[in-house]
This record gives sequence, structure tokens and C-alpha cells, in this order.
Amino acid sequence: MMQPLTEARLTVARPWALSADEVLAHLETQATGLSTGDAEKRLGLVGPNRLPEPVRKPAIVRFLSHFNDTLIYILLGAAVIKALMGDWLDFWVIMAVAIINAVIGYIQEGRAEKALAGIRGMLSADASARRDGGWVTVAAADLVPGDVVRLMPGDKVPADLRLLQAFQLRIDEAALTGESVPSSKTTDPADADAGVGDRGSMAFSGTIVSAGQGRGVVTGTGTLTEIGRIQSLSDEAGALATPLTRQLDGFGRVLTVVILGMAAVMLMIGRFLHGMPFDELISAAIGFAVAAIPEGLPALVTITLAIGVQQMAKHNAITRKLPAVEALGSVTTVCSDKTGTLTKNEMTVRRIVTPVAEYEVTGLGYTPDGEIIPLRGHGGEPRSGERGGPVGGDLAVVLAVATLCNDAHVVRGDDGAWSLVGEPTEGALKVAAMKGSIGGSGSRRVGVLPFDSANKLMATLNEATEGSRAILVKGAPDRLLERSLTQRGADGAEPLDVAKWDAAIAELSSQGLRVLAAARRPVRAGTGTITLDDLADLEFLGLWGIVDPPRPEAIDAIADCHTAGIRVKMITGDHAGTALAIAHEMGLAGADAEVLTGAELEALSQEQLKDVVRDVDVYARTSPEHKIRIVRALQSHGEVVAMTGDGVNDAPALTRADVGIAMGIKGTEATKEAAEFVLADDNFATIRSAIAEGRRIYDNLRKSIVFLLPTNGAQSLVILIAVVFGLTLPITSVQVLWVNMVTAVTLSLALAYEPAERGIMKRPPRGSGGPIIDRRELGFVVIVSLLIGGATMGVFYGVVATGVDVEIARTEAVLMLALGQLAYLFNCRFMSRSSLTFDVLRGNRVVWWSALALIVLQVIYTYVPFMNVLFESRPLSATAWALPIVLSIGIFLAVEALKAVMRARASSSAPAGALKATS
Ligand code: ATP
Repeated sequence: MMQPLTEARLTVARPWALSADEVLAHLETQATGLSTGDAEKRLGLVGPNRLPEPVRKPAIVRFLSHFNDTLIYILLGAAVIKALMGDWLDFWVIMAVAIINAVIGYIQEGRAEKALAGIRGMLSADASARRDGGWVTVAAADLVPGDVVRLMPGDKVPADLRLLQAFQLRIDEAALTGESVPSSKTTDPADADAGVGDRGSMAFSGTIVSAGQGRGVVTGTGTLTEIGRIQSLSDEAGALATPLTRQLDGFGRVLTVVILGMAAVMLMIGRFLHGMPFDELISAAIGFAVAAIPEGLPALVTITLAIGVQQMAKHNAITRKLPAVEALGSVTTVCSDKTGTLTKNEMTVRRIVTPVAEYEVTGLGYTPDGEIIPLRGHGGEPRSGERGGPVGGDLAVVLAVATLCNDAHVVRGDDGAWSLVGEPTEGALKVAAMKGSIGGSGSRRVGVLPFDSANKLMATLNEATEGSRAILVKGAPDRLLERSLTQRGADGAEPLDVAKWDAAIAELSSQGLRVLAAARRPVRAGTGTITLDDLADLEFLGLWGIVDPPRPEAIDAIADCHTAGIRVKMITGDHAGTALAIAHEMGLAGADAEVLTGAELEALSQEQLKDVVRDVDVYARTSPEHKIRIVRALQSHGEVVAMTGDGVNDAPALTRADVGIAMGIKGTEATKEAAEFVLADDNFATIRSAIAEGRRIYDNLRKSIVFLLPTNGAQSLVILIAVVFGLTLPITSVQVLWVNMVTAVTLSLALAYEPAERGIMKRPPRGSGGPIIDRRELGFVVIVSLLIGGATMGVFYGVVATGVDVEIARTEAVLMLALGQLAYLFNCRFMSRSSLTFDVLRGNRVVWWSALALIVLQVIYTYVPFMNVLFESRPLSATAWALPIVLSIGIFLAVEALKAVMRARASSSAPAGALKATS
């Protein structure tokens, strides 16, 4: 009787030293994999194939870290001074503010982290496993010991595997061993005491397949993998610090020193010029320092980025590295793959050309309904109308290559619909063979040379039923023609007619068809493996012309990019003619555009490439290493380059680009790891949306900062002027804290939710580098500070002059500051146009919620007795609200006038559309 499975029986000791069959037997599985039921049972026993999340710092430590900030030190210092002076009420208010600030920071950081963690979850890996005898895609987390998994170049090995098959399999194990040269893998058992790097018969979880193909049986999952033993999940997108936040941290420190310096000067002037009492002066200096410090700034930047990144994920662009959001907004050139990104990657064979005839194939997609109709053949006579029946010998051999030198399958679902498992190009060929009733049964695959985007071909070694063996090759026609000596004519082998094939390739590709070729070579019966060197003296069999329709939305997106001042370049492995035809069709390049092929590019020096790189929009027949040269050449012109990629070899180019973008569906794990962004839908249109989002996020950051700074500016100005001129302080230090806090919790986050400004994709890219707000904007901040500060002093001294209590006048001054900020928030909603429009009332609900919250807080501040004690505020009469309200409207209008002047100056001094300067 079979013993029940237990967790212990699902572990194998030293699987690398056992034979593949022993491992299979031990794990009670077969080379054909597990059944779904068995896999589920095993999953229940061993748990999901996942590494533990990194241990988070305890909540208390994360909370306390919010006190670890120069700005907060000053607050705490102020509290200590207040305590020494015996001013316990102020001490507690300051402490409360410091604590509330930390609470807000803690909550916001939690939200930001959660947003990023959610995004990370969208990138969970898949594996191709064999279940119930067929290949299915399963979540890597669901793999169990005993599952049979296959590996392709670029895959991240999903679990520890004992290899069952390895075709020129090479795996980069740097993640595990630190060894950067990929190790070759075989199925032969290794020494029992071999180190991790020498276990040639194993593929380890987390390492990356750099070439070849393989299959293996899962021997360890989750924490029981080699990598699980040494580390927990890496926490990539989790880092919240970006160059921008660091830049602002630095700014904060400089500001602190300046503020402390000014406070000292203020102390001296007050003491020696006006002979003010020391207590009062200390209070004023503390008030000044507290007022001038924009303590909410770092949190604001982090949360704005995190909210933006979350919204971007909703539009299928998943951010892996937060700092890249900043670069995204300033992209000037997008280099895009063709297949799948610009086109749909839904391939159908449309034409077949053999040495003796030419055929049209009907039908579309992966449903094998359609016919192969001869157009011309056997002497050039059109033979249309001759349908059905067994296909001729010339067609039969081409279709045999189509189906045998192929790893894809088309399968019919329960609903009768056909779907593709595998690569679209191969799916198209499979379907074409099915349309010609060529199944390929009776032939056995003995060896394979997997497709590689550098070689641009794939070959298999097949054995026919009677025992003869042949190499079947398919791939880029130019690559196959180079390797062919003869072609298969009506009466057998004849000399290769290169001119005829060149003409046929040009004809097919000028229609935008993707052209692939077939060839073969008989080999000795004993031959067991194939290498690239074996692919010589081939017999050329013919061509397939495959349609891959452009994505209609990508055509619009290209046009949008052009309006936004962003160049789009196509970098494809496909044929020059095909690439150009599609580029033309999609509006990416003009009819007379130049194409640079990989071979031509190789002949250029980097200097020469630099000279032409900006003018060439279509790069064809490129290999992944050409992408790096193109990126470097573009970058040497100061371009900010976004580069897409999918294959394992694209990773270095993505790393080199300013913004690396990996394909979510078609892309390999290796590429995703190198990328800053992953496109969940592989669609070029998503890149356009992501750039627009990047611009929006950056705009909102600038808006938030330009909004926040005058709060501090106005308050510190009020205190500075009062002390320097020896006047009564219009606002005390605890009141300053109050205003800072209410604007921080309410208004300052509203702009993070601001939608994109009109015409965000009609202006040229922002220059990269440089400070986030420039001198002109700083000037703007100073003027607005003067306006709000001036209004506050006006209210205070005006009200005091009428003989009203100082406390009441201060309450009104605080109201003025709060309402002035509120009015200014509406100015900041639109930086590149006037806010004197009804649009200012629409489009961002958060603005209204935060306005409401601010007013409620102000009412509490003014009328609740407890607050009156704490902040020395006093209830105001209804009419007392009138002056601050009227002045706030005045501030709004004045700032609009200022914006208009700046817009006018910017459009006269800057080249058309350089809108950065207008804000
Ligand atoms: P892009 O670079 O825009 O994604 P691509 O799919 O043409 O375009 P590659 O995948 O590098 O780029 O393919 C390069 C060439 O290799 C193709 O144009 C085709 O001729 C050939 N090719 C593609 N897939 C296969 C395959 N599965 N087997 C054999 N040859 C292939």
C-alpha cells in the first residue's frame, strides 16, 4: 500500500549527486510532472514557495525615527528652553506638535510603504510547469517539490531544481555565489560534497538563465531553497529615499543653519536696540525658528511620489524604483521595441514563398481555419483557385520545419476557442502548418539550438521514423541565406538563387510583413547535438511572410509623444524593410526615413554613431548590445533616454538608460529586475501615459513645495519684522505651531492629488537635473510670503489699533494666515495658467475636503474653551471673520496678477512652449 505523503518525504538530500531518475522516484513524481490534485496536496504540506518578507523595524522604532530630524531637534530644543523657563504650557504644546508631526509622518510613511508593497505584489513571478501532462503557467509561489518546470533564457529560476534536461543551459548564479560568469549546466550527477557553485546538475532558485533551455524537477521551495537559507526577500521598491528627498534633506539642513543664524541676529537686535525683556525675546526667537522651518516638507515629497506611483500602477505602469519617477517626467527620447510594444504581437502567416511557388494563406489569428492557395508557381503561372488537397512537396517541407522547429502549441479550450501557448511567431508557424495539414507526427526531436536574439535563428535536430536525422532551421532570412549553399527546387537540390530571395524578402517586408526563412540539412544518423557551427551548407527551403498588425493606440501615442517634444525610435531585431514599413505606417518615421541596421551600426565608431543617432529613427536587425551603444550616443547629446526591453540580453541597456522599461508579459525576469518600470500590458501607449504621469507627479511636487514654503515665509517674516522694529508680536510661538500643523495636516497634501494640467503633453520635456524649484519660483515664494505676512500684520496691528485685546487680534491674525494659505492653495492648483476659471472649483475633491477640515479646525481653535486656554485664542465675533476673508480674496487676486506677469515674461523671454519658466 502507498504510504501517505509527508513533508519529510518531499525533501531529497543532496539531489545533485543522485541521478535524475532517482530524484524523480524519491519525490514520487515523473518527467511528465504532477497532477493538479497531487500538486495541491503537496502545497498544503510544504506551504507556498515564497521567501519570508524582510523583518520590518518595530513600530516604535519607526515612530521614533520621525524625531530624528534636524528640524525636529530645534523644536525639541525649543521645548527644553521653555521647560527651563518654567513655561510648562508652551512646553506641552510644542511637545504635542512634535508628537503629532511624528504621528502624521508615521501614518503617511505607512501609507506610502503600503502603496509600494501593493505594487511589488503586482510583479509576482510565474513559472512554466507541467501539470496533468501539459505545460501550464503557474504562480511561482504555487510550485511544490516534484513539479517539473522548464527554463528559458531570461527566466529567474523559480525554485531549486534537479535538472532533467539541459540544452546548452547556462545560468548566472551571481545572486547566490557572487560568480558573475554564468555556469554551464548538465544533467550528470555532481560530487556529493560539491559546493553550491559546482553543483552542475542543479538550477537554484533566484538565479537567472542566461542561455539555453532546460527542464528540472523541483527539489526545494521557499525557505528550503539555497537562497532561502541565506536571505529573505529583497526589498527593492521599498526604499523611500530618492535623490529628490535627499536634495531636500540637504536644503533643510542649510535652512536650519540660516534660520538659527537669523534668530541669533534677531535676538541681538531685540536685546540691544529695543531692550526687550529676555524671556519675551527667547519666545520670539523660538517662534521665529519654528515658523521658518518647513518641517512637513520631506513627508510631503515622499507621499506625493507614493500617491503618484500608485496612480501610475492603475494605468499599467508599475514602478520598481521610486527615484525614476523624477527622470520619467524629463524623458526626451523613447527607444521602443517593435514586436509586441508597437505591434500587437498577434502573428499570422500570410504568405509562403518556396523555390518553386508562392502561396497565400487565409485566416487570421491562432484558429487553424484557413487555406493555403497557390498564387504563382512551377514556371510562374498564377494558379489561383486551386484549393484544398494534399500540399505539394515544396510546401510540405517548409511546413514540416514550421511545425517541428517550434516550441509553441495552439490548444483548443473547452469553449472551442483556440489559444496560443508559447511565442507568437512560432504560434503563427504552427497554425500555418495545421492549415496545410502537416502535423509533424512521426518525427522525434533529438536536440535543439534555442532561439537567441543575437543569432536570430533556432534549429532542431530531428529523427524521422525510419531513423534518418536532419537539422531543421528557421530564423531571419539573411542569417539563413548566409548559411545556405543550395535550395530545394522542383527536382531536388539546385544552386541557391540569392538574387531571387533578396527580391522576395524585399517584396514581403515592404508590405510590413515579418519575414522568416526555413532551411535544413541531413546529418549522419549518429549525430546527437547541434551547435551553431553545424549550421552551414544548408538547403534553403523558403520564406514565410507574417503579419503583425500595429496597435492602433500606439499610433496615437506616438503622435502624442511628438507633440510633447519626445522623439520615438524603433529598435528592432526585425528586417529593415519590415521595420521601415511599420514605422511609416505608425507615423514614427517619414516615407524617406533612414534605417540603420545592426551591421551598419557595428561599422560605425561611437563618435560616428553620435553624429547620426539623433537623425535615425529606425534601427533594424539589431542585437541587444547595439541598444547600449544607441543609448550612450543619445545620452552624449544630453538626451534623457527611456528604453524598452524584453530579452535577457536587454538588461544592460535598460540599466544604462535613464529610464529602463521592461515588458510585463513578454519580458523575462532578468529584464524586469534591471528595469525601473514594468509595463503590465507591454503596450507603447502605456509608456506615453507613464511619461504624462511622471510630468504630473513632478508638477504636483513643485506645486506642493511652492505652496508650502510661503506658510513658513509669511510667519517668520511677521515675527522678524515685529522684533526688528520692536513691535508687539502678532503671533506667538505656539500659535505658529498651530498654523504650521493645521496647514500640514490639511492643505499641503491636497496638491498631490491634483490632476494633470491641460496640455501637459503639449509642452517640451523639462530639463533634467537642476533644483526642483528655480530662482524665479523662489522669488515668487518670497513675494507671496510678503503678501500673506503683510496681510497678517495688517490685520493684527489694524485690529489692535481699534483698541481690541491683543489675544483677539492674534486670533484674527492666525485666521488670516490660515485663510490666506487656503486662498493661495487655489492659486497653486494651476501653475501654467490662470486660476481665474471655473476649473479651479473642479477636478480635485481633496482640495475641498482639506479646505473644510482647515475651517473646522479654525472654528475649534477659535471657539472651544480648552483651545482658548492652550493657545490663548479668543472667540471672534462673526464680523471679525470678514476682514481675513476679504484680504484672502485679495491675496488670491494679487497672486493671479503675479502669475500673469510671470507668464508674460516667460513667453517673451523663453522659446515658445518652454513652460517650466511660467510657473
Ligand atoms: P523586437 O526587437 O522589436 O521585439 P523582433 O521580435 O523581431 O523585434 P527578436 O526577437 O530579436 O526581435 O528577433 C529577431 C529576428 O529573429 C526576427 O526578426 C526573426 O527573423 C527571428 N526570430 C524571431 N523569433 C524567432 C524564433 N522563435 N525562431 C527563429 N527565429 C526567430
